[in-house]
Amino acid sequence: MIEYENLRASNQEFFEDYRESFLKTMESGWYILGKNVKTFEKKFADYVGRKHGVGVASGLDALVLALRAFDFEPDAEVIVPSNTYIATIIAVVRAGLTPVLAEPDLATYNVDPKEIEANVTPKTRAIMVVHLYGKCCDMGPIMATAKKHNLRVIEDCAQSHGATYKGRQSGSFGDYGAFSFYPTKNLGALGDAGAMLCDDDDLATTARRLRNYGSDVKYHNEIVGDNSRLDEVQAGFLLAKFARLEELTQRKRALAKLYHDGLKDDFVKPVVDDDYRDVYHIYNVRHPKRDELREFLLKNEIKTEIHYPVAPHKQKAMRDIIKGDYPISEEIHATTLSLPISYGHTAADVERVIETMNKF
Ligand SMILES: *Cc1c(COP(=O)(O)O)cnc(C)c1O
Repeated sequence: MIEYENLRASNQEFFEDYRESFLKTMESGWYILGKNVKTFEKKFADYVGRKHGVGVASGLDALVLALRAFDFEPDAEVIVPSNTYIATIIAVVRAGLTPVLAEPDLATYNVDPKEIEANVTPKTRAIMVVHLYGKCCDMGPIMATAKKHNLRVIEDCAQSHGATYKGRQSGSFGDYGAFSFYPTKNLGALGDAGAMLCDDDDLATTARRLRNYGSDVKYHNEIVGDNSRLDEVQAGFLLAKFARLEELTQRKRALAKLYHDGLKDDFVKPVVDDDYRDVYHIYNVRHPKRDELREFLLKNEIKTEIHYPVAPHKQKAMRDIIKGDYPISEEIHATTLSLPISYGHTAADVERVIETMNKF
């Protein structure tokens, strides 16, 4: 059986480093906001090309705190892609704001800049872009729209560690880049973890306060903050894996190239473009008989996933929050299939998937 992803297999090559890091942290006696967190924040921010990194407890928290940092009025609107993972939309709701959905470009699956522009109203305060599946959004026109309407930009980089657009990394364009290090992400911990990156000193101070009870100095509280700290143990694991993130990314890109070159054209494959370096958090194809294809692969001992089976506007949780039709998003949700592409997979695994797919 080729699994979609086996987290034990993908992490196994780091087990020795993890053990060493864990023992060191345990014996240090310092478990919250210590050396590991500081070192990881600095290294990861440098890598992305930002001045500040602030570790938080999850990707969702990074998004929520990024929105809360701006103190928008309660009826403020935030534009988000209609086909994102639900966390992006939940973040807007949890920050007490109104999500406004913009449809994606069917070729890239990322939000269509023209749809963002079309959804700006006098109440719009921010754009939350999502670099979905590991491909950067078309940040040129998006940043131009933000500037024109004086909107904040928050980047959801949960799927795009190391992805670039015109040579610049995801997470380096907006006011904040918000990252998740959930175990399945391209840079994954062994538990929940996240980070907020920015260049502005005040935004960094606000992020640090928001994650830690609103405090800069112990027992002195400037604002009403949260408890959303990245912990030392997870930061230690992240440092171990981060040291080889580029190599892991190259491996995923090599597997993606096998799919790109090997799969027959009956499948709609991800577009490749010189302006973008994609990191393939997910390698999806689209096919009108997606469910049959999935069954066929399973019969041939290949597991796949669907990202995502239900569009956000069709979720029960969103029935009072999102109105309207989002046909492009629905088309994607009805036809997309994600193929195995973790760094626990080999070229031979992918060759077998390709061979089987091409018989469908
Ligand atoms: C995973 C994910 C998140 C949430 O990250 P968590 O660390 O699970 O809270 C947010 N947005 C997108 C697009 C994601 O894929």
